Amino acid sequence: MKQFVTQKHHEEAVEALKKLIRVPSVLDESDSGKGHPFGKNVVKALDQVLEICAGIGFRTFKDPEGYYAYAEVGEGEDLFAILCHMDVVPAADQKGWNTDPFDPVIKDGVIYGRGSQDDKGPSMAALYAVKALMDDGVEFNQRIRFIFGSDEENLWRCMEKYNEKEESATAGIAPDHGFPLTFAEKGLLQAYLIGPGTDKITVNAGGALNVVPDTAPYEGEYVEAVKEALDKLGFSYEMEGNAVVVQGKSVHAKDAPEGTNAITRLAMALSEVVDFAPLNFLGKLVQENATGENVVGKTQDEQSGELTMNFASLTISPEETKIGVDMRLPVTVKKEDLEEKIATKVKEYDLTYQEFDWLDSLYVPQDSTLVKTLLATYREMTGDMTEPEISGGATFARTMKNCVAYGAMFEDTPDFMHQANEQWELDQMYKAMDIYAESIYRLCAK
Ligand SMILES: [Zn+2]
Repeated sequence: MKQFVTQKHHEEAVEALKKLIRVPSVLDESDSGKGHPFGKNVVKALDQVLEICAGIGFRTFKDPEGYYAYAEVGEGEDLFAILCHMDVVPAADQKGWNTDPFDPVIKDGVIYGRGSQDDKGPSMAALYAVKALMDDGVEFNQRIRFIFGSDEENLWRCMEKYNEKEESATAGIAPDHGFPLTFAEKGLLQAYLIGPGTDKITVNAGGALNVVPDTAPYEGEYVEAVKEALDKLGFSYEMEGNAVVVQGKSVHAKDAPEGTNAITRLAMALSEVVDFAPLNFLGKLVQENATGENVVGKTQDEQSGELTMNFASLTISPEETKIGVDMRLPVTVKKEDLEEKIATKVKEYDLTYQEFDWLDSLYVPQDSTLVKTLLATYREMTGDMTEPEISGGATFARTMKNCVAYGAMFEDTPDFMHQANEQWELDQMYKAMDIYAESIYRLCAK
């Protein structure tokens, strides 16, 4: 196996990463305008990365509307995509940071700064891995295109725009998760169940759809009866003023069965006290089940496991009942079939189904050339035989067919994504560069 990546490439990659970290490319809707839909700083990061790419010999293109950018090298019909993103999550007013999140610092072989792990660091690891191949004189049998999104941390409007206007990849990777690789990501479906209002009770609980709610308050004439019902069920709660607040355990919606949903617990207690069809849906039918089994029957497949169904919000007012739900669909489950089953079931409880958001699943078979090559390369270079992953989470890999998430975090990498003091050990970055170089060499060299 040839050593393509040299110390020079390490240094160049780190320099490029430092330049990118210095751009605080956080979504700023208040700064949205023509050519910078997500704020000027986000576009600045796209400009910066294109300047870096142009400097090492890539052909570059920036979307005139400012949603995405890309840089390409090589010739040929096929297009190998490397799906990156240049936006970052906020640094929470720098709370908890020991250094300025947007002023990169290297200390004891670790680089600190927002984006070092997600996703500026991995992007530069992949970019300079390709540069190493170019410097070695490797010729490519296809085009390699780095696609830089700029709205990954929010609504993915960048890739939506890209897919409207630009060429799709024949294959590709998203260096935005972990090694070895993720070949299946469940479909992500968010919806609301809407029903009539009632004068009997008022409820306002929950929030973000992708979180299992850990509290659910109720205030009103039935507080005492609800407390009694909760005691009987053995559910914990606290009193806050006149409100009884049911306690649960918050986890990401993709892991809903591992959490404790405070809203469905409250609904179970409330529906002991009040008879109201939409409430009975949660309190009598769903109960504590977070796999959708009580609603649509057992739903799972061999490729990607079980359906998850997280009831994340509940409002009941005199005008309306509204239940927010986040679902992660096994890759072989057809969205339309599932929706029909849900709609039929909830109708029995005076509810109607309304889709809110849908991200199609990702599935690349394990016997495909792409997965086989990536996995073999990773295993040969690390000796780590960890099986590839199936995830309820989401990366840009699912925005195109035949793409998988590949690196750049290792099994033993402490996870600093979205956290204070985001950091990445440089030796791990260099190891990722070697793996990317060899993988892309095997897949794309003439
Ligand atoms: Zn990311």
